[in-house]
Amino acid sequence: MENLFNNTEVAFAIKSNKELKRAKFLFEMIASPTMVKIGTKLTNLALNLRLPVKGIIRKTVFDHFCGGETEEECLTVVNKMYAKGVSSVLDYSVEGKKDEQEFDKAVQVTLKTIEYAKQNPGIPIVVFKPTGFGRFELYEKIGEGKPLTEAEQKEWERVVERYDLVCRTSYENDIIILIDAEHSWMQDAADDLIEEMMSRYNKDKAIVFGTLQMYRWDRLDYLKKLHQRAKEKGFHIGMKVVRGAYMEVEAARAKEKGYKNPICESKEATDINYNNAIAYMMEHIEEMGIFAGTHNEESSLRLMNLVKEKGLAVNDRRVWFGQLYGMSDNISFNLANQGYNVAKYLPFGPVRDVMPYLIRRAEENTSVAGQTGRELSLINKEIKRRGL
Ligand SMILES: Cc1cc2nc3c(=O)[nH]c(=O)nc-3n(C[C@H](O)[C@H](O)[C@H](O)COP(=O)(O)OP(=O)(O)OC[C@H]3O[C@@H](n4cnc5c(N)ncnc54)[C@H](O)[C@@H]3O)c2cc1C
Repeated sequence: MENLFNNTEVAFAIKSNKELKRAKFLFEMIASPTMVKIGTKLTNLALNLRLPVKGIIRKTVFDHFCGGETEEECLTVVNKMYAKGVSSVLDYSVEGKKDEQEFDKAVQVTLKTIEYAKQNPGIPIVVFKPTGFGRFELYEKIGEGKPLTEAEQKEWERVVERYDLVCRTSYENDIIILIDAEHSWMQDAADDLIEEMMSRYNKDKAIVFGTLQMYRWDRLDYLKKLHQRAKEKGFHIGMKVVRGAYMEVEAARAKEKGYKNPICESKEATDINYNNAIAYMMEHIEEMGIFAGTHNEESSLRLMNLVKEKGLAVNDRRVWFGQLYGMSDNISFNLANQGYNVAKYLPFGPVRDVMPYLIRRAEENTSVAGQTGRELSLINKEIKRRGL
């Protein structure tokens, strides 16, 4: 049998010929690490000099990886994807902001995405980043167990209020809320707060989802202990399960500070850890909700099989598959075509502010990082099939 994920007619059904050719151009460009380096430097320079480059960024990399600059603009993509059974997770992808005003703005934007979700069945899930709602250094200090000053205590109370407001609003509207995971040295404080939110809002089912980064060797143990506490207190666990995006920085910091690298010793070890977490959660699916955030075909196949083995309906609302917009459409659209729940992160925000996100996507798609080969060959296959 041909690999399910190689059906490019299904994978690219919503892409016009023009969009397909743009994708080919884009992935060919970013296949070269040198091009990515030069492109990144020139783009940043042009933006800093306020040169009129927004148009060209929008027409190329931005429109491929993002839904638009605002929630409204995203709706065209949301509706197109949903017509093929693929849902959207509106993701306000503005990063690196550090002041209270920006944190409050991120809360307002997240609340607005919940409002959109309420009105649009194509948006069943929303998301935010811990450092979108509070200062990195504050999470870090709390995680280290250091005493806070009075001002910091007040600052943290505001972070807790922000989490509570969006989680409560999600709960009241029955919209799943995912909370991303970031660097390990700020994550403990975020995890404790997310656990508190789960205990408040996941009494009947998983609405609040934290994130397990399975490239961390300590996460399976963490999951099992969290499960014990959830059973004692009577709440469901919601988890986005990913491998993890900050491998190099984690290793470099561990080396510099002289502690054990929190990352698994090899890719294979990460893969095993990932599989084990998914298997554990599926074993206890009565008390859990899973969002498998991965572009890995084998991981996706495994979870499909577990759903079947468990006798669950393919569209059981406790199991979701997730990819990023602009990547791995072959997985998303073919899974949706088989009836599984699939949601793609659909980033939005002003072009300038979304640049760090776009640069990360370009970097992880270079030939060195490995994804491009697959994306390009699928795009070429579809171009050939359409006779373009
Ligand atoms: C919908 C979605 C949401 C996401 N949310 C988050 C998030 O909140 N936080 C976050 O950190 N990431 C997040 N990611 C990114 C994710 O963690 C991965 O970086 C990315 O998806 C690549 O992993 P993979 O499973 O798709 O594929 P694969 O290509 O199979 O795996 C690549 C990953 O394996 C791990 N790896 C590679 N080499 C080694 C090695 N030598 N030793 C140990 N491990 C290795 C790394 O984590 C690397 O990213 C998300 C991804 C998706 C699709």
